Amino acid sequence: MHLFFGLLSIAIRVVIVAGAGALAIARGLFTGLVLTGQVVQARRRLANGLHCPRGHLVETESATYSCSACGYTYEGGSQWLCPNPECGATTPYVNCWCGLSVSSPYRFLHR
Ligand SMILES: [Zn+2]
Ligand SMILES: [Zn+2]
Repeated sequence: MHLFFGLLSIAIRVVIVAGAGALAIARGLFTGLVLTGQVVQARRRLANGLHCPRGHLVETESATYSCSACGYTYEGGSQWLCPNPECGATTPYVNCWCGLSVSSPYRFLHR
C-alpha cells in the first residue's frame, strides 16, 4: 500500500512536470510564430517601400538620415542602425520629408 502511494505521487509529479514542459514548449512555439509573422510582415511592408501615414514613399536606401539618439547624420546603408561608433543605436523611426515620422518595422526585435 505504501508503495502504491509512492508510485502515485511519482506519477502525479511526472504529469505536472510534463504538463509544465509542454506548456513551455507551446509558449515558445507561439512566441516564435508571432515573431516569424512580424518579420514576414515587416519584410512585406518594406518590399512595397516604406510609407508615411500620408502615403508618401520614404526613401530607405540612398537618403540621408539623422540618428534620433545622438544627432549623427549619415547616408544610405541601413537607416535603422546608427553608424556612429560611440552610439550604435537602433533608430526607432525615420522622418518623411513632410515631417511625419515612420516607425521602424524592425523595432519589435529590440523591444
Ligand atoms: Zn546615434
Ligand atoms: Zn510624408
